[in-house]
Amino acid sequence: MKNILVTGGAGFIGSAFVRHMVNTYPEYNIITFDKLTYAGNMDNLLPVKSASNHHFVKGDIADREAVRGAFEEYSVDTVVNFAAESHVDRSILDPNAFIMTDVVGVYALLEEARLIGVERFLQVSTDEVYGDIEGDHFSLESDHFLPNSPYAASKAGGELMVRSYHITYGMNTVVTRGSNTYGPYQYPEKLIPFFITEALDDRPLPVYGDGKQMRDWLHVNDHARGIDMVLHKGEAGEAYNIAGEDLRHNIDVVHKMLELLNKPESLIKYVRDREGHDRRYAMNAEKARQLGWERQHTFDTGLQETINWYLENEWWWRKIKSGDFLEYYKRQYADR
Ligand code: NAD
Repeated sequence: MKNILVTGGAGFIGSAFVRHMVNTYPEYNIITFDKLTYAGNMDNLLPVKSASNHHFVKGDIADREAVRGAFEEYSVDTVVNFAAESHVDRSILDPNAFIMTDVVGVYALLEEARLIGVERFLQVSTDEVYGDIEGDHFSLESDHFLPNSPYAASKAGGELMVRSYHITYGMNTVVTRGSNTYGPYQYPEKLIPFFITEALDDRPLPVYGDGKQMRDWLHVNDHARGIDMVLHKGEAGEAYNIAGEDLRHNIDVVHKMLELLNKPESLIKYVRDREGHDRRYAMNAEKARQLGWERQHTFDTGLQETINWYLENEWWWRKIKSGDFLEYYKRQYADR
């Protein structure tokens, strides 16, 4: 591994991975390849701006010529694919971009990687491919896929293409399935940064349905280290769950955030539930632990650190919460 193309590296988790890799492995070249959609943000890469082992290419993973150009220019031998449309609510409003990037884009990337002979391909996937997990079951990597939202279905589709390239062409692939991720630099449409930044402005917090949906929370730096571990140690053709194994009801997360922010409970506003909203995600992360990965953050300490980061970095999120964000906000919440 010498020249690693990180697609979607200007997004939330991708940029955490890029910052981690650039600092941990000075002997590698890390090439961020990103379309810079509304979710891509060059500010996320400021900490590695002057690193000599980091390079940036603006491009779309569904554009095969652009992908080939980056592969050739940087003699890419490894691909880590974070590039995706990643927000469930947007996938319900308009699934098209999800199919184009999360399915067609993954195919384009795989095909160019196969033609040029990339040595290792890691696909970043999600716990949402397993669907709604009933009772007290924790999903295992061998469980069936039962995706329920257009986002989850498009991620499942992309992941199955990766599987087919391993089985059919013998490509050296690995897959990570991460759980709900939180931490610094997360676009403020996702639950935790959305509610922190709204509460700071004393605005209502729209909680879907009864708020009793359950999610497994994973700190972004633990997620990035898990992907690093699977990239280096994962067995070809295998998938690995990366989970905090720290399950919370959404409403309990909201109560905790309000307590830490010293804001009143009266900011909570229950609204009509998300269509097809899964009640529970839960994964067993034993297989990743067997590779030597271990989470370093508990949710309680991670949430406090995350709140501190948003308090100290208003410059980062204030400018995002205009333009595209406001348009999305109106479409999503106007009639709830
Ligand atoms: P994000 O939305 O913050 O970032 C996505 C990045 O991909 C952005 O920089 C965007 O510009 C880029 N991008 C989008 N379409 C592209 C295209 N066609 N070509 C090139 N770049 C493109 O997402 P995130 O939360 O950082 O998620 C990253 C990955 O991790 C995704 O694949 C997502 O499915 C997966 N994941 C996310 C979570 C989570 O909780 N956020 C959990 C598990 C897995």
